[in-house]
Parts: sequence; C-alpha cells; structure tokens
Amino acid sequence: MESESLRAQFSRIRRLYFPKWSAGKYWKVQNGNRRGGSALTGFCDTKRRIVFVSDRSDSLLIHEICHAVASSGHGIVWQRRMVAASVMALRLGNVRVANELRDEVAAYQNAILEVQRAKIASSSRP
Ligand SMILES: [Zn+2]
Repeated sequence: MESESLRAQFSRIRRLYFPKWSAGKYWKVQNGNRRGGSALTGFCDTKRRIVFVSDRSDSLLIHEICHAVASSGHGIVWQRRMVAASVMALRLGNVRVANELRDEVAAYQNAILEVQRAKIASSSRP
C-alpha cells in the first residue's frame, strides 16, 4: 500500500471527523513542532492556521484540530470535541483511535482532579 501523504491524511481526518469545520479548508498541515518545544508532539498555530505534527498518528492530528475548532487549552470545550471525535472513531470502526482519544481526555481530567485534590488537602490542613 502506498503511504498516505501528510496532506492526504489531514484532509481525510478533516472530512471524517470535522465535516462541519468549514474554515478547515484554509488550514494547512506541516511536519514539525512548536519552535523551541521539545516535549510536544504537535502544535496548533491558530494565527497562521497551521497544524504541526511530529508523528503521523490520526489521534495526534485529531487532538490538534480539536484545538483549532474548539479551544487552545485542554479544558472542557476541547475535551467535549475530543469525546465527539472518539464517538466518531467508534462509528467508523476505529476502536484504537477511539480509545486513544478517550484516554487522553481522561488523562487531562485526572490532572485537573489532582490539582483540586491537592488544593483541598492543603486548605483543610490544621
Ligand atoms: Zn493539546
């Protein structure tokens, strides 16, 4: 099988997971990362309308496009869009992508919970 170009992957993801994202046609995808960033594997540049990805997983592209269509942070707005994409992945029969998206949302929710737990624990200390 011929390997899919990054551009073709981007338009496939856009078509399948973000069919109502009309501004998507003005967006580009590029290989790479945020300047100076090393830990990140992707970056959504909303000013220049470019999604950067450093690996070729569908989940990473979906993660970054969710920033483009929902919110730059990993809060509830972005999480909601990720959950919708996870449901779509299930409908498409792509269980692996569905689970990856779900796990990522859960990880961000756990991080928020941990911060709140630490706050409550420190405020209730005598
Ligand atoms: Zn992100």
